[in-house]
Amino acid sequence: MLDRKFIVEHADQVQANCERRGVSCEVQRIVSLEAQRKTLLTDSQEFNRLANEVSKKIKSAKDNDERQQFIAEGRDLRQKKDAAQKQHDEIDAEVLALISAIPNMTHPDVPSGGEEDAKEVGFGKTAVRTFDFAVKDHLELAQPLDLVDFEAGARVTGSGFYFLKNDAVLLDLALQQFAIRHLMAKGFIPVTTPDLATTSVLQGIGFTPRGPETQIYSIENSDLHLVGTAEITLGGMYADQTVDLEELPIKLCGLSHCFRTEAGAAGRASRGLYRVHQFTKVEMFAFTSPEQSDAMHEELRQTECELFDALEVPYRIVDTASGDLGGPAYRKYDLEAWMPGRGEAGEWGEVTSTSNCTDYQARRLNVRYKTKGEKGTNFVHTLNGTAFATGRAMIAIIENNQQADGSIAVPKALQPWVGKEKIG
Ligand code: AMP
Repeated sequence: MLDRKFIVEHADQVQANCERRGVSCEVQRIVSLEAQRKTLLTDSQEFNRLANEVSKKIKSAKDNDERQQFIAEGRDLRQKKDAAQKQHDEIDAEVLALISAIPNMTHPDVPSGGEEDAKEVGFGKTAVRTFDFAVKDHLELAQPLDLVDFEAGARVTGSGFYFLKNDAVLLDLALQQFAIRHLMAKGFIPVTTPDLATTSVLQGIGFTPRGPETQIYSIENSDLHLVGTAEITLGGMYADQTVDLEELPIKLCGLSHCFRTEAGAAGRASRGLYRVHQFTKVEMFAFTSPEQSDAMHEELRQTECELFDALEVPYRIVDTASGDLGGPAYRKYDLEAWMPGRGEAGEWGEVTSTSNCTDYQARRLNVRYKTKGEKGTNFVHTLNGTAFATGRAMIAIIENNQQADGSIAVPKALQPWVGKEKIG
């Protein structure tokens, strides 16, 4: 969330940013509520001060009548203080709710517009392949090889759930192993994270659980929710913590399951493993100083490129447009892999996403850093990026590496873990 003082002092800039990002917001209402809240805070502090003065006078009252008068005066002042405090807290809660709906500010170079306005900014090392046989999609390839079972998933859990089987399990584990090894060599600390998190952690990261448009599964009669991404748990790991500046950047890579309701998403482009309710993801997460975050964003993007170059999968890099950034991101890059079986004649499909969230998440999560020799603390910057969401990475591998006989070549980088050159 943005700093309330910043919103009040830069109301026009914040309003223009909301419009650019296509978010309706009530900046002027926040400004006027903040003025009321400050007056009420001053009032309640003043009533409290006066009440304390009066109670000091009680002891030295000259007679019982005067004592009773001071007691009544004190009671009246405390009632006024309580009323001002109550009104202050109600307004404060309303301001917090309104501020939560305001998105982060936007990097000046971000293209304006919606999903279709994302700007292509680069390509991977592997060229798009031309096939001399009829291309199949990943389901048409995986099912005859007994790699995935959506029918059983639907029987056991519901539509959009699935079982991976046989070599698909090895491929899934290979992607996790390869990503974690690659990231550890670059200084990321590997972590397996809980798959559940509390409401306040989700809100800190920028999700609104139990809301009308939420993509989050919530556990009934509890404060817990299934995470849609390890970004939630990795950010939450440092909630209410203060680190020394010298400890930054902190680079984590988290392995978790991800759960998403994906309400309303359907259609051929979302077929098979592309849009499911549960998948596994290796996620990068970094805490940095404000000065480090732009460079860290480039590092996360570069790391995603290294991972997909190693899989020898063709991809393009896109700079996400302002209207498609969501709430917390200041800037976001996606990698879109070429998926030859997607759509009519192949399509790009998002495989990774990396965001610089500046101090937007840290402010609500209350993650701070301290500089030696300086008073006070500042909010860190947080960044996240997908290493591999294994389902979509598998689609890219299966479809790009399909052979005329229906078998699938295993990328060299994964062969040590899959234990073979070819599936099928
Ligand atoms: P996000 O956290 O929404 O940026 O997603 C990170 C990555 O997870 C995406 O780039 C996809 O590769 C993958 N992903 C997102 N949603 C789904 C889904 N419903 N099913 C499978 N993979 C997904």
